[in-house]
Amino acid sequence: MNKKNIEQILKLKNVKPTAMRMLVLEYFQTTTSAISLRQIEFHFDHSDMSTLYRTLKTFVEHNILHTIDDGSGTIKYAKCIEGCICAPEDLHYHFHCLNCKKTICLTKQNIPSVNLPENFTMSEANMVVKGHCSDCQS
Ligand SMILES: [Zn+2]
Ligand SMILES: [Zn+2]
Ligand SMILES: [Zn+2]
Repeated sequence: MNKKNIEQILKLKNVKPTAMRMLVLEYFQTTTSAISLRQIEFHFDHSDMSTLYRTLKTFVEHNILHTIDDGSGTIKYAKCIEGCICAPEDLHYHFHCLNCKKTICLTKQNIPSVNLPENFTMSEANMVVKGHCSDCQS
C-alpha cells in the first residue's frame, strides 16, 4: 500500500493525515494480525510516546483500529474492516494462537446478540477463541 492510499484511508475517516498517523497506519498495513501496544512502542521507540498514544486513541475513536483484550495481559490493536463503525453489530470473535501468540480478527464471525436483562445495553464484548493457528499445527 502506498502513501497515497494511506492518506486516502485517513481522509475517508475524517482524520487529518499527519506524519505520525501516516506512519502508524502504514505499520498496520504490514500485517493481518493484531499488534500489541508493546510492539507498537518498540517499533516507534524513536518517536514521541504521547504523540503515539494520541494517534492510537484517534484511530480507535475514528473506527480505524479497534482494541482487543486477548488475555495475554497487553492490549492489542487491529485494523477495522471497511465500513466498520465499531458498533455492537461490528463486534466479532478473535482467535489467539497459544503457540505463536498472534491474534487475528475473525471478521466473518460476528458475535451473536446476547439476551440481556431488561434495560441493559451491550457496548463491548470480549470473545476470544484460543487454539493453534495453521502455522503452528505440526
Ligand atoms: Zn471497528
Ligand atoms: Zn500460531
Ligand atoms: Zn478484530
